[in-house]
Amino acid sequence: MSKKVSIAISFAMLLVMILSACTPAATEAPGATGATEAPMATEAPMVITDTELNVLCTPQEEWCQGMKQEFEAMYGITVNYVRMSSGESLARLVAEKDAPTFDIWWGGPIDSFVSAKGQGLLMPYDSPNYVNLLNPDLTLDVDHQYVGIYMGTLGFATNTDWLAAHPDASAPTSWDDLLKPEFTGQVMVAHPSSSGTSYTALCTVLQIRGEDAGWEYLKKYAAQMASFTKSGAAPAKFVGQGEAAVGIVFSHDIVNEIENNKLPLVLTFPQEGTGYEVGGMGIINGAKNVQAAKLWFDWAISPEGQALGPKYHAYQAPTVKGVSLSHPELMDAKLINYDFQWCGENKTAFVDKFTNEIANAENLKQ
Ligand code: PLP
Repeated sequence: MSKKVSIAISFAMLLVMILSACTPAATEAPGATGATEAPMATEAPMVITDTELNVLCTPQEEWCQGMKQEFEAMYGITVNYVRMSSGESLARLVAEKDAPTFDIWWGGPIDSFVSAKGQGLLMPYDSPNYVNLLNPDLTLDVDHQYVGIYMGTLGFATNTDWLAAHPDASAPTSWDDLLKPEFTGQVMVAHPSSSGTSYTALCTVLQIRGEDAGWEYLKKYAAQMASFTKSGAAPAKFVGQGEAAVGIVFSHDIVNEIENNKLPLVLTFPQEGTGYEVGGMGIINGAKNVQAAKLWFDWAISPEGQALGPKYHAYQAPTVKGVSLSHPELMDAKLINYDFQWCGENKTAFVDKFTNEIANAENLKQ
């Protein structure tokens, strides 16, 4: 826990050093920060012959589209992307293991990347830009098969119009609050089989309460749901539109709905602690455009690549040095000591248990 707090503090203390839009040549990998550590100046530039890149993109559509356009403008490589939630992405990679369509998987909680690594789906890569990472112990796989590209904390989004109409109710500030009678049929979350956000919530509960009590809690939690959605960020939108009272969503997605879409939402955090994500990235084993994938990989852990998030309404915290946080308060929430390895290794088993014993994944709200 104190490690997470110190991460938040070190994030908050970083100087604003967003690099200006200096465009690297099409044949050079994006540079690293840290004059004493970076080996880039003495290395020969990477010659790129790939003309296209196929990206499996898990964050919100707007950020996927923005990153595609930025990368194409910078490197002259055509980017084809498909936006899919974490669970769907993992299932697709497994199905295509012998003939992968995608070259790189960008975004979505890292638990799924732990699972992908365990299934031999990812290719190791020694990026020169690992020197940029703020906290490689937390964000870099020991075998260099995946790396963290952002961080985000889970929160609750409550509709303020609903609160005004229910003066005896208040926005939840604990996991137990979600079980209150006034929220029966009024909570919304994605299904953990499709969504990494929802899986983060599930694994958070199992860690806070322990497995036995955690599964008991999850049965009651599932019974409170108005419906399960397919995508992790969707409940913030639906709750903002009045379809339910409370959504369980990453806090940066709640901020996006409040600030940019002007939805009547208030953000709260569970005071006993909340889970958080490290958004992951990995090159696909058997990728056809490995050079282009490495170029994207290096760029995505460069300050200039990560500084682009807020331009596309993505308010996750960066994982590299030299980028300011757009919303440092989101990292001030009390965080649990989330065990990505444990959650990733048990992802299939936990999702199957939830789906088979608690709530199936039929008729998910889009
Ligand atoms: N979209 C946004 C905006 C996110 O912050 C995240 C978190 O990584 C995701 C999508 C992950 O997608 P999902 O929960 O649908 O797997």
